[in-house]
Amino acid sequence: MRCAIVGSGLAALATYATLRHAGVLSEEIAVFGTHADPTSVWRERAASIRQRRMRSESDGHLAAAGFPGLAVREGTLSALSRSVANRYHPAVELFLAHANEVRDRTGWDESFAERRVARIRAGKGGFTVDGEGTFAHVLVATGHPGLVHVPGAVHAYEPHEYAPKVAIVGAGMAAATEWRNALAAGSEVVSIRRREPLRRSLNVPRAYFSKRGLAGFHHLAPTARVAVLHDLGRPSYPPGRDWDVEVPVADAPPPGFQVIAATGFRKGWREDPVLADLVAAHDLETHDRFLALAPDSTVPALTNDGRTLSIAGVAGQWAFPAADTIAGAKYAARAFTRRVCRTR
Ligand SMILES: Cc1cc2nc3c(=O)[nH]c(=O)nc-3n(C[C@H](O)[C@H](O)[C@H](O)COP(=O)(O)OP(=O)(O)OC[C@H]3O[C@@H](n4cnc5c(N)ncnc54)[C@H](O)[C@@H]3O)c2cc1C
Repeated sequence: MRCAIVGSGLAALATYATLRHAGVLSEEIAVFGTHADPTSVWRERAASIRQRRMRSESDGHLAAAGFPGLAVREGTLSALSRSVANRYHPAVELFLAHANEVRDRTGWDESFAERRVARIRAGKGGFTVDGEGTFAHVLVATGHPGLVHVPGAVHAYEPHEYAPKVAIVGAGMAAATEWRNALAAGSEVVSIRRREPLRRSLNVPRAYFSKRGLAGFHHLAPTARVAVLHDLGRPSYPPGRDWDVEVPVADAPPPGFQVIAATGFRKGWREDPVLADLVAAHDLETHDRFLALAPDSTVPALTNDGRTLSIAGVAGQWAFPAADTIAGAKYAARAFTRRVCRTR
């Protein structure tokens, strides 16, 4: 078989849709993942924080072609006019319905095999995945390696209700969503945070989604790139009246308060068993918690004219700082597909 996708979330589905759109057949692609439904991990997290609108905009969809975006799919004048002003954020329901449609239309289920992959190895002409293969082209999209838990607290991305008194730890998108949720549930809310929240519409400044912004980033030396990525990784949530909620700040959860940890994910290649194993086996270049990648999201030491190893999702930030977004998933997917089609 020609291609394997390791992981079964939104980035995997975006890649699958892009390959299929380019004419790669279902029987030429194996998807190895833990969930047959590519939305299930994301869906539970979004439902846990009661997310109703996407942070991303109209182009935050999983289909291969850029057009139509989600605003056109919604089909209302208000969606279209808000989209022109970068103020359109699709409903989560619309996004999920669209993801299901992409899953059905592309034949995802024909390629999917339920498996938690342990090891990927490079060899002559390609890669083996848990000893199976050879696959000439492999894209790894294993998502976040796990949640950062706080002892005695429920994590914001796990199902929960709100007690009458709630302390929310964190200062990012999940924390800001949870302040509003808990207040709407009638709870008394305090915020526990190390620094003042950063306000930003998208995960990273808009420039990093453009060719020009990326070119500057790709020219940075490793130490500077690590510093930029750490800075971009600071928790943030959008500006605007909808998000302006006054909550008192405390140093620690007061006694008797339910604690909700909006503390996000464990970070870095060392935390992901597949990536840690791959780095050790092939002595791959890393900087700090980041896996070094070429600008097209491939691992340089394991990629040549005949084979490709690409990284999509959060572990692909060395190539695309907003790798952990739908737009980032598509950036890696498109470059991967170009390589697959070039070596036909
Ligand atoms: C609550 C929330 C809201 C978000 N909202 C937005 C938004 O509005 N817009 C936007 O652009 N982005 C958003 N994001 C960011 C991003 O789009 C998501 O994090 C998205 O889920 C990333 O997709 P992924 O495929 O990288 O990871 P996931 O969707 O987590 O998928 C990874 C999959 O791989 C599986 N897996 C892991 N290890 C292995 C293994 N060894 N073998 C096989 N399978 C494995 C996992 O179990 C999982 O099924 C949001 C994130 C969260 C958490």
